[in-house]
Amino acid sequence: MRIGGNWLERQETQAVLDCLASGGFQALLVGGCVRNALLGVEVADVDIATDARPETVSKLAEKAGFHVVPTGIGHGTVTVVSGGIPHEITTFRRDVETDGRRAVVAFSDHIAEDAARRDFTMNALYARADGQVIDPLGGLPDLLARRLRFVGDAETRIREDYLRILRFFRFHAWYGDPQEGLDPEGLAACAALSAGLETISRERIGAEMRKLLAAPDPAPAVAAMAQAGVLTRILPGADPRALAPLVHLEGGLPPRWQRRLAVLGGQDRGARLRLSNPEKRQLAALDEALSGMDSPAVLGWRLGAEGGTDAVLARAALTGAPPPAGWQAEVVRGATAEFPVKAADLPGLAGPTLGRRLKELERRWCDSALRLSKEQLLA
Ligand code: ATP
Ligand code: MG
Repeated sequence: MRIGGNWLERQETQAVLDCLASGGFQALLVGGCVRNALLGVEVADVDIATDARPETVSKLAEKAGFHVVPTGIGHGTVTVVSGGIPHEITTFRRDVETDGRRAVVAFSDHIAEDAARRDFTMNALYARADGQVIDPLGGLPDLLARRLRFVGDAETRIREDYLRILRFFRFHAWYGDPQEGLDPEGLAACAALSAGLETISRERIGAEMRKLLAAPDPAPAVAAMAQAGVLTRILPGADPRALAPLVHLEGGLPPRWQRRLAVLGGQDRGARLRLSNPEKRQLAALDEALSGMDSPAVLGWRLGAEGGTDAVLARAALTGAPPPAGWQAEVVRGATAEFPVKAADLPGLAGPTLGRRLKELERRWCDSALRLSKEQLLA
């Protein structure tokens, strides 16, 4: 099996692989880029595995004229920038010690050891510079069948790093066979060990959940997560039931994790997923919109085109009432509308009286779906 694609054939990437190879070392593409190329989906980042030690990687890359960033040199990772494109190069590693959260690693000369510490068989695929795929663990048939399976014994692998529970649902949502459901052994292990997620930092949980909820259709994976008792561990009070209707209503619009998170609900999502302050404000505005009755135009005006779209779809998913015909144009109209009355239009009013009057006019304007003109409002 051979992979290809511009990301691999371009001179910038070949030159990086070549600087390691001409130093006498292995230089293998690994992980997401190989997996995605095999599936025919877009490759985002290029990860490279090598038997060269990090200092050697740096030396060879600098000699070849590349910019080198010691990203995580203690863990074996060096970023080599070639033609503006970052390449993460990580020395083969094996785990020496794990505690469920982080691992103490040692460098290794063997691809088999490097493969064995990866999470899922479909993530443990490598390729040479010419695209020839190397499959040390037999992950290729799993990938081609879109079967997500842990490398080795699922429970053992989860005890090493509980974040893998969430990665299991995330990778299934993105790359699993939607008809087939989740691997039963993996799912049972996630259910049995879900309490271990309590030890994982909220940053890491938040990052995984964003990626999961940004999948084209995360609903089956999230439903399985709820059934396994994993969802309430990380988001107490969350309810997955409106997610499938939401994805259906989206009808192929670009996925947004914020919209999906809004229909899940749950307590304290901002803190539990370590959302940024702007993200928390967005979610709060969306929650507020979900409990109200504003028209699509008003939602567009209050939340912008993106937020307004999220609110219309999320509310429809939660209530079961389809959005009104023409709602998309209405959201856009609202997003670009301007409240027609200015303070200068209300001479003689000042301070709190002025503020109250403007609010009241704004409410009337909203009740008219943003249709009333300045003259009509002031009449
Ligand atoms: P994405 O497209 O989401 O970046 P990816 O496969 O590149 O997918 P990363 O999280 O970037 O995923 O990890 C890169 C690779 O490192 C994975 O393919 C996997 O082989 C390995 N890996 C990452 N995190 C873990 C983990 N917690 N346990 C074991 N292996 C891991
Ligand atoms: Mg990656």
